[in-house]
Amino acid sequence: MSRALSEFTCSELEQLLVSRGQKPSHAARLLRAYYLSGGDTAGWSALRLPAGFADALRAAIPEKSSALARQQTSADGTTKLLLRIHDSRTVESVLMPDFRADRAAGCISSQVGCAMGCDFCATTQTGFERNLSAGEIVEQFLALRREALSTGRRLQTLVFMGMGEPLLNLDAVLAAVDRIGRNDLGALGWRQITISTVGIVPGIEALTRANLGHHLALSLHAPDDETRASLLPMGKRFPIAEILAAADRYQAASGRPTTIQYCLLEGVNDSLEQARALAALLGPRRMHVNLLRYNPTGLSLKGRTYAPSSQEHTERFLAELRSVGAIAHLRRARGPDIDAACGQLRRREAAR
Ligand code: SF4
Repeated sequence: MSRALSEFTCSELEQLLVSRGQKPSHAARLLRAYYLSGGDTAGWSALRLPAGFADALRAAIPEKSSALARQQTSADGTTKLLLRIHDSRTVESVLMPDFRADRAAGCISSQVGCAMGCDFCATTQTGFERNLSAGEIVEQFLALRREALSTGRRLQTLVFMGMGEPLLNLDAVLAAVDRIGRNDLGALGWRQITISTVGIVPGIEALTRANLGHHLALSLHAPDDETRASLLPMGKRFPIAEILAAADRYQAASGRPTTIQYCLLEGVNDSLEQARALAALLGPRRMHVNLLRYNPTGLSLKGRTYAPSSQEHTERFLAELRSVGAIAHLRRARGPDIDAACGQLRRREAAR
């Protein structure tokens, strides 16, 4: 298959235009129309271009390398898209309506499957298949933007919290962020993007060096290394202290507060003592804690069955964090009536 338009940087498209005897300045206008429409080249016809040029370019470069395979929409408006990529593998992206009627947030994947083995996660149960290319990541952004436009909303923010560990596919993720972040090309803006990680310390250091201006989120899920390693195998490789130190450096360089993701699991990480330990760990750090509701995924890799923390324990945990001045929020569960947990829809599609 020819290289899709989503794989082109602006300078690569400029070179292609020059090789076809066209002005390089058309490249930014072509990409802008493509990004603003959510991955459609129909808008090229409205641009002032040499006769026949738009059609010739459309014939030479496919718009995309993926297609929508399945879509689920929850009663709360959360929409999950399953995109089939050119080698028949599938990848999940999610659109979540904001409380403001005209906005939405998106969540995209960086890999097909995942090798991280987080015990409560459905994605990792089918293993790791391959990294996504930058264009395949960009196409998820475009699909979500298109879906948001169809419901009268604007895609406002984007998080890399879907399938995969973004920092283990760093080159493609950074190349995609570089394009998705370019608001001169009609894309989102770097500050609207968050990259989430289980805590790959060299990857966080690489993000600090790249200095693209996006936000960083850490999937912590426990305040001590022992509990964390029982949930996230990567916790054995990188202790919490090292991860937080790397996040401190990212925060200092970028000026953006890090988000701590903490999924509350009943009887595992939701006690009052663990709330106090988390508060002590964060101490004077200017980091934000997002407490997440767990979407059950059935039997885990280790044969456990996790349950979401009860309302009482959740509120107690949140109140304890806030009582010591931590900035903490409870994120409501999204799409509980669909395959909401990361990897569930893809698993169901594979079984089908
Ligand atoms: S939670 Fe994220 S990093 Fe962990 S296994 Fe699932 S997809 Fe991978």
